[in-house]
Amino acid sequence: MKKIAFFDTKPYDKIWFDEYNEQFELDYFEGKLNRKTCRLLRGYDGVIAFVNDDIDENVIDTMYEEKVPVLAMRCSGYNNVDIKAAKGKVKVLRVPAYSPYAVAEHAMALLLTLNRKIHKAYIRTRDFNFSLNRLIGFDIHGKTVGIIGTGQIGQVFASICRGFGADVIGYDLYPSEKSGINYVDLNALFQKSDIISLHCPLTKETHHLINKDSIAMMKKGVYIINTSRGSLIESQALLDGLTSGRVGAAGLDVYEEESDLFYEDHSNLVIKDDILSILVSRPNVIITSHQAFLTEEALKSIANITLSNLSEYFQTGSCSNEITDP
Ligand code: NAD
Repeated sequence: MKKIAFFDTKPYDKIWFDEYNEQFELDYFEGKLNRKTCRLLRGYDGVIAFVNDDIDENVIDTMYEEKVPVLAMRCSGYNNVDIKAAKGKVKVLRVPAYSPYAVAEHAMALLLTLNRKIHKAYIRTRDFNFSLNRLIGFDIHGKTVGIIGTGQIGQVFASICRGFGADVIGYDLYPSEKSGINYVDLNALFQKSDIISLHCPLTKETHHLINKDSIAMMKKGVYIINTSRGSLIESQALLDGLTSGRVGAAGLDVYEEESDLFYEDHSNLVIKDDILSILVSRPNVIITSHQAFLTEEALKSIANITLSNLSEYFQTGSCSNEITDP
């Protein structure tokens, strides 16, 4: 039986991997995979990792030295893997799609919560405070929603927004003709949108796509939703935009410095990240800890596809879900 080391394990991962696994010996590690923990890989045939593992050149070289030929990412994004270093040494597999609905619906949940102040109303009514002061929202109907990255998740989010009667505009390096989205250039999207939702991958080109200059172009009071990757947004620029009022609200499922924080309980500690501390304290910011994928359907699908990727690799030496770029 092939031995697979599974990193950054949470109870909700184990449920479905244990349910669907028939052919591998899965060893679950709670810690993340990084240059310190990669020494654990001796004797394994493969690795399963996730979004906040840090799979740099060092980890790849250790896998190569220890003859661990395959890394199966149980996610779609792979910005945390040094793909260049892996070339010719380690096959990197991923789950290109599991439930675009999970992520797109979470983006809409963030938008609706912020706009209709559900987070404030929930706290008020638990204290029998039934005042409506400062709870005013706006109709999404008739507003312009700008979507950056119109792949699987972006297109589902577009159709949800159309259901609300919004005008959807989009920007993508590779526009999809059948999406029905009205494509504009990036600056026009920044200038025209009442709501901007990010659904492109994190790459060199998209790093800090939302920065001081792009925020300066946006409509006053714009809502920014990010369920993609934290480093698409320059956090200090976002904070400045929120302080000046240029940005009306931000719904963030991801944060650029999330890797040492998200998925763990830090409620007893003083958080040393001042930007995050201020963002969390703002009434017009909602942060969720990279949970947009967290539906039962998505978890089942992630487990199924990750296991079948490994199976395909061990049977044939290659896999249809292998990452081959750059
Ligand atoms: P996808 O590959 O189907 O779509 C991505 C789209 O972005 C593509 O259409 C691509 O052409 C476009 N794109 C690439 N570079 C671009 C650029 N420079 N500017 C504009 N558009 C660009 O991917 P997807 O399944 O829709 O996922 C999108 C992203 O969502 C992933 O990369 C991942 O980072 C993130 N994600 C987050 C969660 C979560 O739990 N928060 C879960 C899954 C995926």
